[in-house]
Amino acid sequence: MASAKRRRCDIESGHGGRVFNPSWTTDYFVHEQIISIRCLICLEKIAVCKKYNVNRHYTTKHAVSYDKFKGQFRIDKIELLKKTFLAQQSVMKTKVISFYSATKISFLMAEAIAKSGKPFCTGDLLKNCLKIFCKEICPKKTLTVEDLSL
Ligand SMILES: [Zn+2]
Repeated sequence: MASAKRRRCDIESGHGGRVFNPSWTTDYFVHEQIISIRCLICLEKIAVCKKYNVNRHYTTKHAVSYDKFKGQFRIDKIELLKKTFLAQQSVMKTKVISFYSATKISFLMAEAIAKSGKPFCTGDLLKNCLKIFCKEICPKKTLTVEDLSL
């Protein structure tokens, strides 16, 4: 019975059927994400979108240190934490995409070597050639080439 009710709430929206209140950002230092709420201070995920849960997280973990921030100073602090969080997310996404590309390129090149009937030791030669090529044409991609495993 309880699991059926929970499942129905999860289907209604990403926050368990509840709506994120934008004033919680100022009151409790939280940021709305697609399927959850993230604390901007400790980056912990708050799964249930209820004022009680958000308030409890802030009160038990951060109120002592962050209640001193009032008015514009509080808003500035939130903006700073939000910028830091979004920058970290951007770096992680870029790294994951770069790693995915390196893996995909590794497989494609290994397949090309296998189809040519050449020994796999030519992979090192190809990798060195790619490094030289990237150093001249696109220096930003040199790190991706170094991630290749051939
Ligand atoms: Zn927190």
